[in-house]
Amino acid sequence: MFGLSITKILFTAAVIFAVLYGWKWLGRIQAQRNAQGGRMGRKRRRTVGRARAETTKTEDMVRCPTCGDYVPAERPRHCGRQDCPYPG
Ligand SMILES: [Zn+2]
Repeated sequence: MFGLSITKILFTAAVIFAVLYGWKWLGRIQAQRNAQGGRMGRKRRRTVGRARAETTKTEDMVRCPTCGDYVPAERPRHCGRQDCPYPG
């Protein structure tokens, strides 16, 4: 009847099962990859953020009362004028 033999029916069922399980398996692999990628991406972002924070360190400046130039507050330099309060 309809030219369907038991082998054809079994083969068709096997193909359907293979496709369904293959689909599930691919989905699982994709989910694992996404989880790993997310973790790595986060780590990379954190490292980049730290590097950027190190390179953009700011320094407080103070105004020299003699010449008006701004010098680093932690280690001010003598500007060359006689009455400069900072050490040479
Ligand atoms: Zn000065």
